[in-house]
Amino acid sequence: LDRIAPVIDDLGRRFNEAGHELALVGGPVRDAMLGRPYHDLDFATSALPEETERILKPWGDALWDMGRDFGTIGCRKGDWVVEVTTYRSEVYDTSSRKPEVAYGDSLDGDLVRRDFTVNAMAVRVPGRGLEDPYGGVVDLAHRVLRTPGRPEDSFSDDPLRMMRAARFAAQLGFTVDPAVVAAMTAMAERIEIISAERVRDELVKLICAPYPRLGLTLLVETGLAQRVLPELPALALERDEHHRHKDVYEHTLTVLEQAIDLEERLGGEPDLVSRFAALMHDVGKPRTRRFVEDGTVTFHHHDVVGAKLTRKRMKALKFSNEQIDDVSKLVELHLRFHGYGDGEWTDSAVRRYVRDAGDQLERLHVLTRADCTTRNQRKADRLRRTYDALEERIARLREQEELDSIRPDLDGNQIMELLGI
Ligand code: ATP
Ligand code: MG
Repeated sequence: LDRIAPVIDDLGRRFNEAGHELALVGGPVRDAMLGRPYHDLDFATSALPEETERILKPWGDALWDMGRDFGTIGCRKGDWVVEVTTYRSEVYDTSSRKPEVAYGDSLDGDLVRRDFTVNAMAVRVPGRGLEDPYGGVVDLAHRVLRTPGRPEDSFSDDPLRMMRAARFAAQLGFTVDPAVVAAMTAMAERIEIISAERVRDELVKLICAPYPRLGLTLLVETGLAQRVLPELPALALERDEHHRHKDVYEHTLTVLEQAIDLEERLGGEPDLVSRFAALMHDVGKPRTRRFVEDGTVTFHHHDVVGAKLTRKRMKALKFSNEQIDDVSKLVELHLRFHGYGDGEWTDSAVRRYVRDAGDQLERLHVLTRADCTTRNQRKADRLRRTYDALEERIARLREQEELDSIRPDLDGNQIMELLGI
């Protein structure tokens, strides 16, 4: 915290002078101790929002009070995003979707209502004295997520915290305390009172984290995934074509990890669309397989069914139309190149592939290549060669089209005539 000491101590003095306490809390305290980067400075204070606003106004570069209903005033200070929230002690109505907010009168009271011990630490400013009433430092050292009180009470106050456990496991690479896992398993169905948007936000952070496998595995093993993303655990029942390899669920997690390895092609930043497409690319399989086993005829290949299921799920989770279009397009197109293996695609078939992919072509390259890598070695090599050939063909076609587009419509004689040569 030495790096930001001048900023936070200065703000702390201003609150003290006005007769109020101020403490850095939650994410930045945790991340500073882990040596992770952070840009948000979250504070808790004894001051009421009006008072906070009065103190921040002359200090910050730009002020906003988006979270005023929750007692939060925010401002920008140089590169930092500062948010100051009045001490809270929340009273929950267990049947309602939203926590009701009541202001509290102590930092300890504010910390006890936080989700995990590693998020329930504070540093008072100025002076920078650590407040760690629930053993967050020890849990940080053991890299484990525990709740400050009984996990059952915590999750019954706010079931979203179960999703947050999976999200932080994926972000931090931490394990989750067995008592917490047990509570999540017992209470998974409670997630259904939480709004789709809040669930989605945690899911997005989980998927874009460095270790999504950890978070997803936790969701599946506790039964939360069955409520928020049922297509994923359904894959676990599904053996691959030859009933020889690991199930499609395991394959899916591997494809996701391969896609993350290939992400550099998309600029190196976590790419939600690409990752979500990897997660959903085979979700059509169980459904189509069942039709076949029923003896019911199915006319759709699993990629078409998969694209439909993807749309439906993303809609339920309130993703944007653009995200839904992009992800479902990738799911629908990811198998098409298999037909290229015979080398019988005409130029117009290649052009159609490029046109159908549209601005998703780079992501389609990533998804198909990620999908190639997990089959048995010989098949994987064959698929990879096929896709190499297709990419080369696309590149050649592009070059050709570029040449065509810059070649003038005039022939040599007409040019000589124009130039008087
Ligand atoms: P990041 O901002 O990097 O996602 P963070 O730890 O700051 O991580 P936020 O979701 O921004 O996470 O929440 C800020 C802090 O507020 C958390 O560290 C936690 O202490 C507390 N918090 C947020 N949501 C909840 C919740 N649903 N229940 C209990 N505490 C919460
Ligand atoms: Mg935060």
